[in-house]
Amino acid sequence: MHFHVLTLFPEMIEQGMNTSIMGRAIERGYISLKATDIRDYAANKHNKVDDTPYGGGAGMVMQAAPVYGAYEAVKEQIGYRPRVIYLTPQGSTFFTAYGGRILQKEQDLVFLCGHYEGIDERVLEEIVTDYVSIGDYVLTGGELPAMVMMDAISRLVPGVLHNEASAEFESFQGNLLEHPHYSRPEVWHEKRVPEVLLSGHHANIEKWRREQSVIRTAERRPDLLEKADLSAKEKALADRCLAEKKLAFTQEV
Ligand code: SAM
Repeated sequence: MHFHVLTLFPEMIEQGMNTSIMGRAIERGYISLKATDIRDYAANKHNKVDDTPYGGGAGMVMQAAPVYGAYEAVKEQIGYRPRVIYLTPQGSTFFTAYGGRILQKEQDLVFLCGHYEGIDERVLEEIVTDYVSIGDYVLTGGELPAMVMMDAISRLVPGVLHNEASAEFESFQGNLLEHPHYSRPEVWHEKRVPEVLLSGHHANIEKWRREQSVIRTAERRPDLLEKADLSAKEKALADRCLAEKKLAFTQEV
């Protein structure tokens, strides 16, 4: 997977992505990353890329021409018209399954990061294929959302995670949250690791983990449960948790 980021702050992308697991994945060639500075495509000596909005109002708007220039440079380099994701709070929300679908289809992905009030609509109409938000809040720029997406997509690329299994059983798979984790020591602050995890009995451990997933999802993200594939026993467990949660809430109020 080749990531191309069109941004006014390439150093932010490079610094953010070149550490830890992502840094190692780039170094080993599982993924590649190129940040293109939109300012390099400004047609004035001060490298100015923004201007005031037509119609008035606060803030500045990133102009169409430099954004288009940066896009054309990437297109020319890879030799075809790529999928272009514009990070915007006005897009559909990014979720893990979308990352997986992108991976199956695309070799190159272009992320377009806005700043200030956003980008001139006319260039968006010409180059953007996907409008994606990372949540219902407004950030100062698209760089963090682009890094969030690249991180989530990269984890699905074979070889990026040392232990392939750790990408297999994660929250949101099967619409459940993952079970809790414990490591050494067995007792910490007088809290013992659940006995079953020390038993070495794999079937019981799997059973416990699955139950914990159901309980945790009911407690924290009951909205996911509707689409989860639960057995009758698991459904009853989830219903009990939801009823207890409702009772606790009523007592609090
Ligand atoms: N004026 C825009 C609006 O109200 O929709 C918000 C512009 S925001 C201050 C500047 C840039 O940050 C956007 O162009 C976008 O690239 C990025 N951004 C902000 N919040 C985001 C979010 N939740 N998801 C994805 N990108 C976001």
